[in-house]
Amino acid sequence: MNFSYTEEQKSVRKVVRTFVDREIIPFIKEWDEKGHFETNILKRLADLQLMGVCIPEEYGGVGMDYNTLAIICEELERGDTAFRTAVSVHTGLNSMTLLQWGTEEQKQKYLVPQAKGEKIGAFGLTEPNAGSDVAAMETTAVKDGDDYLINGSKTWISLCDVADHFLIFAKTNPGAKHKGISCFIVERTFPGVSTKAIKGKLGIRAGNTGEVFLDNVRIPAENMLGYEGEGFKIAMAALDNGRFTVAAGACGTIMASLEASIKYCEERKTFGKEIGRHQLVQQMVAKMSANLEISRLLVFKAGWLKNSGKRNTQETSLAKWISCDAAYEAANDAVQIHGAYGFSNEFPVERFLRNAKAPVIYEGTREIHTIMQGEYALGYREDKPLRKMLPAWPFEGILIKG
Ligand SMILES: Cc1cc2nc3c(=O)[nH]c(=O)nc-3n(C[C@H](O)[C@H](O)[C@H](O)COP(=O)(O)OP(=O)(O)OC[C@H]3O[C@@H](n4cnc5c(N)ncnc54)[C@H](O)[C@@H]3O)c2cc1C
Repeated sequence: MNFSYTEEQKSVRKVVRTFVDREIIPFIKEWDEKGHFETNILKRLADLQLMGVCIPEEYGGVGMDYNTLAIICEELERGDTAFRTAVSVHTGLNSMTLLQWGTEEQKQKYLVPQAKGEKIGAFGLTEPNAGSDVAAMETTAVKDGDDYLINGSKTWISLCDVADHFLIFAKTNPGAKHKGISCFIVERTFPGVSTKAIKGKLGIRAGNTGEVFLDNVRIPAENMLGYEGEGFKIAMAALDNGRFTVAAGACGTIMASLEASIKYCEERKTFGKEIGRHQLVQQMVAKMSANLEISRLLVFKAGWLKNSGKRNTQETSLAKWISCDAAYEAANDAVQIHGAYGFSNEFPVERFLRNAKAPVIYEGTREIHTIMQGEYALGYREDKPLRKMLPAWPFEGILIKG
């Protein structure tokens, strides 16, 4: 086992950190307050070749390994959860799913421009009456000649207003529960597609999240991803990738909470000494530091399995569960360390706390991951081989633009 970062990974971390320090952190307070999603950041991420990290070069990506993707997510979330979420959805949930399940024609048409960052992808699974219980979805896709007609709506869809392409899950056989779900590539320009942002969010206010309405949307049969009835399997495989990026991003929130706390511990004095000298404050800092290490190791192991092309649902779920809970705890303790100042937006820690709540809910709630881990431990759950696995890394890797 080798726990050291490669020279290429160190250089990628440096590039992303510099980008975040210069182009996100100075503006994020204002964007967050205004609920503004700065789409120019997506263009800049594309310039830096960060929109197709694990996608092979032949499909427009840069062919880097999963742990490099993890470093990028960690550094982006150190800036703000909104931009890591964008990469999670565009790359983790959409592009990597096209790579895994798409036909050659679908990859050329949709994956190549997405991997280059010329087009943006989103992921439409959740509905008003179906979140954790995916099989309860009500959106339908009915065969009509060579096409399908999709009717229904999706909610809490990240990047809904900016995405060019959506992966939309719909029932093709409503009586067959999860085996009756299929997946479709839907273009924003298809007649009958409309979107609307959700206002009044607790966190990720600098991100775009909302509803997707599908009103008699005609989809050519060649836009079905995988075979009819494979949608549930495709969604779960997509979540294996999305959850990995969420877990890695959570390490960024822990890192940001730790950085802000250490700085404040040195500045603030009570009872004649810096607050970092009080053992109960040290306990909170120690927990953040330990949890950063634990979370990174869990992410690293899941990434190593992915690089080897091995099934990793159990390890990815564990990494996602533990690191997102740890990030929420770190942000909460960072507010505590800042005392009353932590309760105002004079310091960034209140934003970390508001943002850290979403990853405990999305891509499998804390409770869903707890159940999964309990079932694995008890032997109630067994991962069957997927019809398609992502190819094992290495692809043709190239150094990211500085
Ligand atoms: C900021 C944000 C961005 C999002 N982006 C996307 C996106 O891009 N695409 C997308 O498809 N979705 C997205 N989502 C939706 C997200 O994936 C769902 O919110 C999540 O799956 C939970 O579903 P729900 O909100 O319907 O909660 P529910 O499933 O209704 O759950 C409500 C509560 O009950 C608990 N619960 C449910 N079932 C069980 C059980 N069996 N045992 C114990 N407890 C249970 C849950 O843990 C939760 O605490 C996003 C959500 C947020 C907040």
